[in-house]
Amino acid sequence: MKFADMPYSRPDFEAQYARMKDLLKQMEEAQSQEAFIDALLTLDRESGSLQTQATLAHIRYTINTQDPFYSAENDVMDENLPRFQEIPAEVARITLASPYQEAVSQRYGAHMLEKMEVAMKAFSPEIVEDLVEESKLNSEYQKLIASAQIEFEGETRNLSGLLPFMQSTDRDMRQSAFSAHWGWMARHSEALDSIFDKLVRVRHGIGKKLGYDSFIPVAYARMGRTDWNMEDARAYRKQIVESVVPLTQKLYRQQAQRIGIPEMKAYDLPLEYLSGNPLPQGEEPYLVDRAREMYKALSPETDEFFSVMTGQGLMDLTTKPGKAAGGYMTFIPDYKVPFIFSNFNGTSGDVDVLTHEAGHAFQGYLQRDVFPSMLKDYTMEVAEIHSMSMEFFAHPWMEGFFGPDTEKYYHSHVADGLKFLPYGASVDAFQEWVYLNPEATPKERNLKYREIEKVYLPHLDYSGFPYLEGGARWQKQLHIYGLPFYYLDYTLSQVCAYQYFIWNQKDPKAAWQSYLTACRRAGRVPFTALLKECGLNNPFVPGTIAQITPRLEAYMEGLDQSKIH
Ligand code: ZN
Repeated sequence: MKFADMPYSRPDFEAQYARMKDLLKQMEEAQSQEAFIDALLTLDRESGSLQTQATLAHIRYTINTQDPFYSAENDVMDENLPRFQEIPAEVARITLASPYQEAVSQRYGAHMLEKMEVAMKAFSPEIVEDLVEESKLNSEYQKLIASAQIEFEGETRNLSGLLPFMQSTDRDMRQSAFSAHWGWMARHSEALDSIFDKLVRVRHGIGKKLGYDSFIPVAYARMGRTDWNMEDARAYRKQIVESVVPLTQKLYRQQAQRIGIPEMKAYDLPLEYLSGNPLPQGEEPYLVDRAREMYKALSPETDEFFSVMTGQGLMDLTTKPGKAAGGYMTFIPDYKVPFIFSNFNGTSGDVDVLTHEAGHAFQGYLQRDVFPSMLKDYTMEVAEIHSMSMEFFAHPWMEGFFGPDTEKYYHSHVADGLKFLPYGASVDAFQEWVYLNPEATPKERNLKYREIEKVYLPHLDYSGFPYLEGGARWQKQLHIYGLPFYYLDYTLSQVCAYQYFIWNQKDPKAAWQSYLTACRRAGRVPFTALLKECGLNNPFVPGTIAQITPRLEAYMEGLDQSKIH
């Protein structure tokens, strides 16, 4: 069925809620494992149908936020869906207390129960008020950041509106945009500290109430991590310091040479190439045609997937008035298809949608028949393997997208990922310290962050910017406020994606088969077990990163340097 023809009707929330509660009761009172599993599966289908209507309303609303019908329906969903959040928590509680627990485990694998257990670890009715407080503080942060109104170059702009100026080839322009951006942050640093202070306090309290020494085990449980902990994270970050930081420092020295500024300041860093960033060679119809050719040539599975996406109208790609900002990929359960939403604007981000978001969508498509849907729940470091690796499997076709900018794209793609690893690790190291030292003052926190930056990002020269020199750069990182400890995940997936990149150059058939396994088995086993099934090296094991970095360095050196300027 085409997306446009998928019927929408507002669910009867009362009746739906009552049906679900009744199914929970059936699970609780089941007299046989068949009856228990039957109720579980029916509940899963019911949730899927509710989610289908909510997703249709949301997609259609974001495509045209001016549409009065879907705008109203989307509001109705926002009001009514929160009460359904208790359902999966109830399923977990009932299953874990059920005599049929073993039957569920036999049928769906032990990991399904592990996932339920970890979800329970992060919650108790005792902390409900703390959660409300935490979410209020998060909104306060987001509102404050979104409220930025900065007069710059004759217009009032928000923080992200300054980004194009920060990449200018004119050094004075870069400096003044940088200064406008961080100047605004500096003027609000006390308010930002006060919000964070309260967040740390409420989170530490949550950790204590749930029976832990700190908030950290709760944060890990919220992320659904069942197979790695803070000690693993530490060993992993150590590898980044030893094996990635020396290479990124070399990349920054090369950048300094390329842009002709021997002593780069922090405001010079966004200018990667004097000739500008790599640009796609056409608009949506052109890029979608290239993607069609690419997915046809890559594998029968991707060919089928992309034909469904285009044939059923499951992508809304180009920016237009009234469209919501940003991009996402979502899944429509009743029709078993993904949907991709984005705002093509003529930057290399357009191509990323057709590789990265399409990687997520392809994975969702491969698991379209998996029921119950909780089998498909997986952690973020698994999710981003699917998308980030697809970006690399797409490399042989990038000429069609980037034309004369292709070599520059290859360089920036590999280099940007590498430069991200130490930053991602620094965010994790900082948060770990913060929650192990919940009594620290804002000043102590900043001093610690600056110390951490010097380990992971020693190239940063903030001279002339006391706010940043004082260690407050972290205040701009939304995850630190709103999604604690959600960050190392991206770097772990990147390390896995690099492994596919290297593998694909040697043995594309085997690499692709392994990638299909990573997609199909996601959620069935935890992250590190999935890596084993896929024949990937575990990033937590010392030496894993050191095997990767020399190959990436050699790859970048092997590119046609005359085209990278
Ligand atoms: Zn992603």
